[in-house]
Amino acid sequence: MNLIVIGIGLIGGSFAKDVKKIHPDTQITGIDKSEEHLEEALQLGLIDQKGDYTSLATADMVFVSIPVNALVKELPKILDSVGDDTVVIDTGSTKELICAAVENHPNRRNYLACHPIAGTEFSGPSAAINGLYHGKTNIICEVEKTAFKLQERALELFQGMNMRIRYMNPSAHDKHIAYVSHLSHISSFMLGKTVIEKEKNERDIFDLAGSGFESTVRLAKSSPDMWTPIFEQNKENVVESLEEYIQNLETFKQLLLDNAYENVHQEMNNTNRIKQILKGIPLTKS
Ligand code: NAP
Repeated sequence: MNLIVIGIGLIGGSFAKDVKKIHPDTQITGIDKSEEHLEEALQLGLIDQKGDYTSLATADMVFVSIPVNALVKELPKILDSVGDDTVVIDTGSTKELICAAVENHPNRRNYLACHPIAGTEFSGPSAAINGLYHGKTNIICEVEKTAFKLQERALELFQGMNMRIRYMNPSAHDKHIAYVSHLSHISSFMLGKTVIEKEKNERDIFDLAGSGFESTVRLAKSSPDMWTPIFEQNKENVVESLEEYIQNLETFKQLLLDNAYENVHQEMNNTNRIKQILKGIPLTKS
């Protein structure tokens, strides 16, 4: 297979690693706006060679893993250049604006809208890991708009990586993901900010940071370059989820002020249900 990865960072690099494992004879070409990342990807063996959009016409598969604002701009150009038999897969963490950007493109049938629910808080080619997608869910949107033969090619590869597939429309995806992913990131960023501002002496934070703080604040290490455009594109859903979250924080604060410890206990007891809900979900985010 002739695979092109556009954006050879954590998501693209991990995909390249898994594809090489399943199909060792795959030729992988990397395209990236960062020359440094491309060079690093070559050194790490994630890609076999560097390329540009002129290589797109002969690719069997193009995997586009660049920030969501870049996706909206680049995806139409990528579809302009692909061959009839090329499947273009994106991995953007939002889906509504990205799908709308190519809605009427003459090569819309070449595009499969995806969001693999897999990742870590790190970025760039050096963050790429083996088996990132194993057991993870891949959300696919508007599958009926992709040519059947091209869907099949992509699905076969996802199955080879042991991914679970969920079909969703772009607007439902963006609404649900605002709660389970985007809100978690804001919550983690603002928890980190609150503690940093309070504990001006960073040594104390480091010494006292038990696993609770470390694990809750993990997502605050994520890249602002990636997350700002996600929050921008999904602003309405994110603001709605934030309002509900802030209301819950206010309620919890008021219960403490009122010395209503039975209710405090009850709030936490009700939320313990999360244990059953999350049972069986493989570790690592996003
Ligand atoms: P990443 O590690 O930062 O890699 C993205 C790469 O794309 C970087 O090398 C970046 O270069 C490059 N790039 C940026 N704009 C480009 C453009 N216009 N053309 C070519 N290359 C460009 O990011 P990532 O974590 O892999 O995320 C990639 C995509 O997957 C995003 O859409 C994100 O929403 C989605 N996603 C991420 C996760 C996660 O947990 N990280 C999970 C699921 C989906 P520079 O660094 O120089 O900008």
